[in-house]
Amino acid sequence: VTNERPTPDAANPPREVFSSRLREFLDKVLEGESPNYGSFCSFCYNPLPADYTRCDHCGQSTARAPLTSVPEDVLEMHRRKLKRESVVVNSFAYLGLALGLALFLVMVAINVLYMQKALWFFLFATFVFLVGSRILAGIIGGVIGDEIGYRYANKHLAEDWASHVSQRETARGQ
Ligand SMILES: [Zn+2]
Repeated sequence: VTNERPTPDAANPPREVFSSRLREFLDKVLEGESPNYGSFCSFCYNPLPADYTRCDHCGQSTARAPLTSVPEDVLEMHRRKLKRESVVVNSFAYLGLALGLALFLVMVAINVLYMQKALWFFLFATFVFLVGSRILAGIIGGVIGDEIGYRYANKHLAEDWASHVSQRETARGQ
């Protein structure tokens, strides 16, 4: 078997381990919307349209025959990646809610200590809490958490992927 795989450029790794087509496909399989069946690059599992003789994600030719399904290991990798992303995003969203709650408690304390428990200020604080905690959860979870979760999950996916490929190629070489 000739290995035409280009040497990976360690200084400039690809931003995504899986191609966007593969990610869409894995999402559908995990959600039960698609059977795990098709034609996939035997190097990176990118789903390949029938007339392709070269993978448009990793550049390998189809000389090494495409696979008809994605290995269970790869589905599991994708599942773990989604899980990691959502754990980080949710944690940051809760942090946003907690900050909203802290803001509310500070306003209530100010009300009790300095404003003779003014009803209008309590209602204002409640409004700030309801709106502010949503906004804070959205910004901290949806923007900051999303970016950190993306990096964190992709870093682990890249490690999972490296060990998968090394095991796979070792098995092939035997
Ligand atoms: Zn490929």
